Parts: sequence; C-alpha cells; structure tokens
Amino acid sequence: MRIVLATRNPGKIFELRRIMAGFEVVGLEEFPHIGEVAETGLTFAENALLKAHAVAAQSGLPAVADDSGLCVDALNGMPGVFSARWAGRHGDDKANLDLLLAQVSDVPADRRAAHFTCAAALALPAGQEQVVEGLLPGHILSQPRGSNGFGYDPIFVPEGEGRTAAELSPDEKDAISHRGRAFRALAPIVRDLLG
Ligand code: IMP
Repeated sequence: MRIVLATRNPGKIFELRRIMAGFEVVGLEEFPHIGEVAETGLTFAENALLKAHAVAAQSGLPAVADDSGLCVDALNGMPGVFSARWAGRHGDDKANLDLLLAQVSDVPADRRAAHFTCAAALALPAGQEQVVEGLLPGHILSQPRGSNGFGYDPIFVPEGEGRTAAELSPDEKDAISHRGRAFRALAPIVRDLLG
C-alpha cells in the first residue's frame, strides 16, 4: 500500500518510512504537478489536515502531512503556527531565532518554558481524516548552542536534557521529537484504516 507524505523534505520521508514499515512511503517529488499548499490554518492540526486533504485529492492516494512549530509560554504560545515565518520571510531560520531571542531577552531562566508541537494528519481520497499531536516539552536558552538540527534547535533544551536539541545526534532527536511522537501515534491509526 502506497502513502504519500506531503513534503519534499528527505529527512521527514526517511523518518516516516522507518516508522511506517510495511507501507511504501513516497514524497511529493513523485508528484511534480502538486503545488505548495498555503498554510492558512490557525492551528497545527488545521494546517496538517489542509495539506493532507489537498495531496490525497490530487494524488488519489492516502496522504500524511505534518505541521509543527515552537510554542513559547512567555509569548502566549507564539511563534506557534508562524514558527517558519516569524521574522517575516518563510524559512529564514537565523532571522526567526534572533528575533525570538530578542523578544524574550528580559524573561528570567525559570520562566522560559516552551514546547515543540507537531500535528500529523492522514487524509484519504474519499475524504476521511484523522489527526494526532506529538509534544516535546523543554525550555529556551538566551544563547544558541550546537550545530545539528535546524530551526530553533540551538536554543531549545528538551526536558530532562542538559544539551540543546542542536547538540543531540539525529537518532537521539528522532527518538524524543514531537514529529517522531506524532508519526508514531499516527502509525497504528493508518494501519487500522488501510492495513
Ligand atoms: P514545518 O512543520 O516543517 O513547516 O516547521 C515549521 C517551523 O517550525 C520550522 O521552520 C522551524 O522553524 C520550526 N520547527 C519545527 N520543528 C522543529 C524542530 O524539530 N526543531 C527546530 N525547529 C523546528
């Protein structure tokens, strides 16, 4: 059974392939006619469902999509769904991180709780849908550390860790990440519906 993962990010495809053993997971590179889906939702779940439905309808196959971001308590849960474009331009990781650091510069160390959230959605061409969320709790630092990962990883310390997410190996991060948790929670649902 083939499933399309609504991404062109090879890291995400690799991760879902490992979790969804028994299914053939393909990415959007197999469907060049499918364009970008605008992330117009106000929640991670809404955006993940938007993308999954658009890709299922256009590919004719079951589609999985995810949407994720960093939620900072001191910023009332922002950047949230705006994480990728917090500084105004989509995907400028350094500008996003620098702006966030400036915004929380006066927030003391004991009030820097934050979490990553990932919503993972499954949509079938006939319209059925399921969505689950995975969370990674932790706190943010005032200086970046580490060079692995991407996005806000260099300022995020997962709960129970001394290292930032950018100081973890890719395997260590996958094992605890919000995305890993969401994909692992979605896997039995996909198997029940399609297996
Ligand atoms: P997307 O779900 O891939 O669109 O991610 C949205 C944005 O959230 C990214 O551009 C990053 O800024 C941030 N983000 C999501 N997951 C992570 C993560 O695991 N580490 C660091 N930043 C992340």
